[in-house]
Amino acid sequence: MKEFTCIICPRGCRLSVDDNMNVTGNFCPRGKQYAISELTNPVRTITSSVRVNNREDLLVSVKTSGSIPKGKIFEVMEEINKLSVAAPTRIGHVVKSNILGLGVDILITKNID
Ligand code: SF4
Repeated sequence: MKEFTCIICPRGCRLSVDDNMNVTGNFCPRGKQYAISELTNPVRTITSSVRVNNREDLLVSVKTSGSIPKGKIFEVMEEINKLSVAAPTRIGHVVKSNILGLGVDILITKNID
């Protein structure tokens, strides 16, 4: 039996999954999907920031366009840390496409004039 907290919404249901992948404790179906994904192929969305190279001491927030395998988080963060952009920036602009070949882009999430 595995137990963990669902992180899909703020309710934070305490989930239990038995050896036959029966999920209990979930208030809604999304919790069951999350529990099975967490045990078979855990993924995460990353939020971070990158340097704005034409503004002193300024960072702009970014996020992944989708989920990446949990085991790739540190490699993706290393790639994000190498990135920089020039202002002005616009929400949704792609800073890096298909990062590490994972089929996910790094997107800007803040407008800077
Ligand atoms: S099981 Fe449903 S209600 Fe409970 S935390 Fe997950 S998404 Fe929210």
